[in-house]
Amino acid sequence: MKSIYDFSYDQLIEMCLANDFKKYNANQIFSWLYRKRVTDYDKMTDISKNLRQFLKENYSIGTLETLQLQISKDSTRKYLFRLADGSSIEAVLMHYDYGNCICVTTQVGCNMGCTFCASGLLKKQRDLTSGEMVQQVLTVQKDIDQSDKRISHIVVMGTGEPFDNYDNVINFLNTVNHDLGLGIGARHITISTCGLAEGIRRFAQEKTQYNLAISLHAPNNEIRNQIMPINKAYPIEKLMEALKYYTSINNRRLSFEYILLQGVNDTDSCVDQLVELTRDFDVYVNLIPYNRVDEKGYVSTDYKSAMAFYDRLMRKNVRCTLRQKMGDDIDAACGQLRSKYEREKINE
Ligand code: SAH
Repeated sequence: MKSIYDFSYDQLIEMCLANDFKKYNANQIFSWLYRKRVTDYDKMTDISKNLRQFLKENYSIGTLETLQLQISKDSTRKYLFRLADGSSIEAVLMHYDYGNCICVTTQVGCNMGCTFCASGLLKKQRDLTSGEMVQQVLTVQKDIDQSDKRISHIVVMGTGEPFDNYDNVINFLNTVNHDLGLGIGARHITISTCGLAEGIRRFAQEKTQYNLAISLHAPNNEIRNQIMPINKAYPIEKLMEALKYYTSINNRRLSFEYILLQGVNDTDSCVDQLVELTRDFDVYVNLIPYNRVDEKGYVSTDYKSAMAFYDRLMRKNVRCTLRQKMGDDIDAACGQLRSKYEREKINE
């Protein structure tokens, strides 16, 4: 059964009209779903019995089942959800000074094969539907409704490659962004990609205000090929071309994500090459301490060397931050909780 959360606002209007209901019914439904956040059609009291019955018969409703919730010392909340088909996925909520940010999963497993990442330990089984992404946000929002908190930011940085599930991801963002619903501002939403050039070009044409982050992680093809197999299909030159196209029609600032892996991508020469790559862009570099994944051999660059990397970048006038580590006591790195859970299930 299709989920009611699969409909963006515009699609909900179309659906209502196509079934001889009224346009304003879409407003009512949207508001019940995302403002009042009910999970039962019978609670939509200003909607006719007839329409409620129609919705019940055709579209599923409800939050995701929470299999596990881990809360870290810094109050990061990591959820493991079960989907209707039994798949499990993760979402993480992080509290910052500027607001509450949810990290959303886009696929069950991932095929990009980055050698440092836990998500790829389990290959992609399927894309998530738009509704399943919306449900992650809604389920977490309902959980924190009790403490009067509001999700203000979204990063599409959970398991999966968003541009490998393009239409559903854009539909999801348009749904949670809509003013009549959750109203999460486009400028507060960031999509992160490992660098699928066609996706970047397509995204440029959307002309939305969503932010784009690129998981760069290496300043040249030699290192990038080693740690991100996708680089063989879209080497750095192709990626940069796509980014130039993006910035030429969409005046938004970019960010480059750069995980610091000891002895792999953290030398002075790496800094200098990275500086060259940033030259053509209004770009912000996020240096990220690596969250250790037991199955992978990598170690994070130590704090002192990370600071030295950061200083060298700053001295060369590249705007950057050294991101603080959050939730590393609760398996908050992409895919860690899920891969542990799935493994334990297999071992049972
Ligand atoms: N496929 C998308 C989004 C999911 S990954 C992408 O590649 O951007 C989100 C970010 O987390 C990426 O920058 C990814 O490289 C990074 N990441 C993956 N495993 C990590 C780990 N163990 N520690 C720190 N960052 C990690």
